[in-house]
Amino acid sequence: MIFLMLDYDGTLAPVVLNSARARIGREMKNVLSRLASRDDMGMAIISGRTLADLKSRVGLDSIYYAGCHGFEMEGPGWSYNHPQIKQVARQVDQLEKYLSGLLSGVKGCLIENKRYALTVHYRRVDKKLFPSVEKAARLAEKKSAGWMKMEPGRMIYEFKPSILWDKGRAVEMLLGLYQAYDPYPIYIGDDITDEPAFRYLRHSGLTALVENDERLQPTAAVLRLRSVNHVLQFLKSLL
Ligand SMILES: [Mg+2]
Repeated sequence: MIFLMLDYDGTLAPVVLNSARARIGREMKNVLSRLASRDDMGMAIISGRTLADLKSRVGLDSIYYAGCHGFEMEGPGWSYNHPQIKQVARQVDQLEKYLSGLLSGVKGCLIENKRYALTVHYRRVDKKLFPSVEKAARLAEKKSAGWMKMEPGRMIYEFKPSILWDKGRAVEMLLGLYQAYDPYPIYIGDDITDEPAFRYLRHSGLTALVENDERLQPTAAVLRLRSVNHVLQFLKSLL
């Protein structure tokens, strides 16, 4: 059988500025639903979003979901929580409080608590205040050292758990569930966080990076797809 693993943002749903608005198109949803109903195919959606958020956006019953890069996973008759998930959630809550205090005077700064990760958005902040945001992010990084690591991104500071865990491990675990069926894995994703999954499947499955008009990035994936629309065409060819 084929085990199809798909990222959500930038793979199934086009990337939008406000990630709350990222939705799957009707045609994509239809194709996913038809693929999921096949007996010879397993399916998992693997994302950085929380499990609850991911499930409500995709809305299919019979498939597997891996939220927070596989920190929390669920499928028909099965679920998994990383053993340190509660401690991480507590750390994120403390970090949110601490940062709210530091950044309360910075207009336009948004702190997003993602339960097992936290993002500081400063796209709407006055340029003159960028150094204050950075300073706060550095202080918070020190304060949560050992638990969280901080990575600057595009107008964001992202705090992620320093626990050794990534989408590659999620893939390993999900494939383990299907071991008896000797699954052939296909993985499609668009982000740097998908690379551990590409690497894990390097010699055992088909991997594709969705480029979304971004500059060419090095990848461990064997295929490059140009856009979410090409993902749709690819998935249709499996029907
Ligand atoms: Mg993505």
